[in-house]
Amino acid sequence: MENFRNQAYRELLNRKPLHIDVPVRMSKTFGSKVFGTASMKEYLSKEALEAVENAANLGTSIDRKVAAQVANGMKEWAISQGATHYTHWFQPLTGLTAEKHDGFFDPQGDGTALDSFGATQLVQQEPDASSFPNGGIRNTFEARGYSAWDPTSPAFIIDTTLCIPSVFVSYTGEALDYKTPLLKALNAVDKAATAVCQYFDKNITKVVATLGWEQEYFLIDDALVNARPDLSLTGRTLFGHAAAKGQQLEDHYFGTIPERALNFMKDLEMESIALGIPIKTRHNEVAPNQFECAPVFEEANLAVDHNQLLMDIMHKVGRKHNLSVLLHEKPFAGVNGSGKHNNWSLATNTNKNLLSPGKNPKSNLQFLTFFVNTIKAVHDHADLMRATIAGAGNDHRLGANEAPPAIMSVFLGSQLSATLDELERKVKDGKLKPEEMTDIKLNLIGKIPEILLDNTDRNRTSPFAFTGNKFEFRAVGSSANCSQAMTTLNTIVADQLLKFKDDVDARIKKGDKSDDAILHVLRDIIGSCKKIRFEGNGYGEEWVKEATKRGLNNIKTTPPALDAFVSKQTLAVFAKHNIYTHRELEARHEIMLETYTKKIQIESRIMADMAMNQIIPTAIKYQNVLIENARGLKELFTDKEFKVLAKTQLEDIKKVSTHIDIISTQVAAMINERKKANLLTDGRKQAVAYCDKVKAHFETIRYNVDKLELLIDDASWPLPKYRELLFTK
Ligand code: ADP
Ligand code: MG
Repeated sequence: MENFRNQAYRELLNRKPLHIDVPVRMSKTFGSKVFGTASMKEYLSKEALEAVENAANLGTSIDRKVAAQVANGMKEWAISQGATHYTHWFQPLTGLTAEKHDGFFDPQGDGTALDSFGATQLVQQEPDASSFPNGGIRNTFEARGYSAWDPTSPAFIIDTTLCIPSVFVSYTGEALDYKTPLLKALNAVDKAATAVCQYFDKNITKVVATLGWEQEYFLIDDALVNARPDLSLTGRTLFGHAAAKGQQLEDHYFGTIPERALNFMKDLEMESIALGIPIKTRHNEVAPNQFECAPVFEEANLAVDHNQLLMDIMHKVGRKHNLSVLLHEKPFAGVNGSGKHNNWSLATNTNKNLLSPGKNPKSNLQFLTFFVNTIKAVHDHADLMRATIAGAGNDHRLGANEAPPAIMSVFLGSQLSATLDELERKVKDGKLKPEEMTDIKLNLIGKIPEILLDNTDRNRTSPFAFTGNKFEFRAVGSSANCSQAMTTLNTIVADQLLKFKDDVDARIKKGDKSDDAILHVLRDIIGSCKKIRFEGNGYGEEWVKEATKRGLNNIKTTPPALDAFVSKQTLAVFAKHNIYTHRELEARHEIMLETYTKKIQIESRIMADMAMNQIIPTAIKYQNVLIENARGLKELFTDKEFKVLAKTQLEDIKKVSTHIDIISTQVAAMINERKKANLLTDGRKQAVAYCDKVKAHFETIRYNVDKLELLIDDASWPLPKYRELLFTK
């Protein structure tokens, strides 16, 4: 019987590319499926429109009566766009998005029906949500959760369903999703940053965090993916010998986009643009069949929603093109994995980017303030930043010489780094003399715009790099919900900004002028967070040694990395700003450990299945061919001739046996470790056991399977190989 790989290949030969015609003016269709300003103006009363805008911009609440008007307008708009159903669209801790559709259609009991959708349906729903991860927050007798409308992110239509972005919380009020803490963190950073801005510009009354993500992904023909249980069920290859050609020629990066991929991208962009996702950039990435897309940055909550939405649409569009979209951080050993850089900054209501210097000394000092405080926040919470991006998939990437190491550090660029050092030297204890102040303002702070203008320093090896007018958190995994990174970053920056303000105010109270106070506090901060700054090669061995000397942690795997999520310091900072209660954080920690355990457990099971049911039987069959051949040779030739002629076959027979033996012994040992780990009741201990004991067998099993791949007849090998997966266009 033909094996799956051969079937997949036949399917591939019959592929017809799906051509996509894109309208020339994408700008015309931008947001056409979004209940945004234009459609709201058409469908809402002035009062309702104002209420929604105030809710979005000022965080005010919308009263019941107005909510009913909004619901009605939204419904009429949605129906005019062909929608028949509505759903609250939320982001539970599964990492995916969730929706439960209800029809507008409402029978009246007298044989007639109406389309109804009122304030109640818009504002709050109670999805039967007992199967979402909750980390023990909900008892089974109180399994209800409810979702509540987030008016800061506009509703949109997918297919024929009106989707209403929502938060998802337990009946007792604990967050069960990613959005709830994010909204709180964004509010915290707004308050803290706005307060600090008062030193510089009284017109600043609101600060929003901005996020521009860059999404990396692989596109692999779905017939090939379906022929591999590992890829289709875990998103990564558990076996597979390197192809003769990999990424060593560096001929894929920014190369011509292959036709099928380009058609996929066009289709994806059309869908995204209609949904208001401002996708702008597309290109090939480093690895073969790896690509990237990036939008124009947006307010962080909207950007997160758009990234979640994009990941959903990618799968949907991929299916149309017979392409599997792999969002896993490391689908292929030995070739680059995928990340999701989170470009982050803070923007004011006066249209000022706080991480971009301005035209006058005041705005440059303002830049410096936000710049230095961000570095300090990452310094003080480095382990939390590491925990924030931890996950089974990202473990393969961090520190594997293709992504930032598991050591948290901040890259500034040599000139800005020198500026900070100089500032530290020049700001002497005590009040600054007028000439000292002038010198600092003119020769140091005044030079910042020039420095940034020709600052072309780019460090691709840093997990957290300053890139001219924003920080780029580069260590986030490709499959992650950006919320978690954004919640952490904005919270710790908010916390640091408030500390900064307290210190500055204390000095002012004692008689310092504001600039004097600010410079002194900045100087102290610069002095206290030097060890997090690193300008060199983050991939090098020397950095690992140097980081150890500096006392920076290098936590390579997820279970111990997650400890920082529930450290005293973390619990305190999140509680102080009302982002997470202790209970919520502990629940989240538990869920993350559980997710890790489940992922490794599934990988381990699939590995065992494939090894025992696909690889070993194939190896035995091939070995029998060799044995038959040797027998034949023995019949035909003298003993002396046979020894020479059958030398290779005999050796191969032995090699196959050795590999089979190691594989089956290791699989048995791995299963045994799994059984032991499954008995553990403590979530952390179990995750550690899966990491240190179960996963420990993966490498040997894989090594021996990959050796068999090289030995065995190509035609009978059951799994699509790396050359097929990576080079089929
Ligand atoms: P690269 O990092 O490849 O050099 P760019 O500097 O153009 O590319 O920007 C990459 C990403 O950074 C884009 O998604 C862009 O929208 C985002 N970005 C640019 N400015 C900001 C900002 N102020 N805040 C957040 N993201 C930003
Ligand atoms: Mg980038």
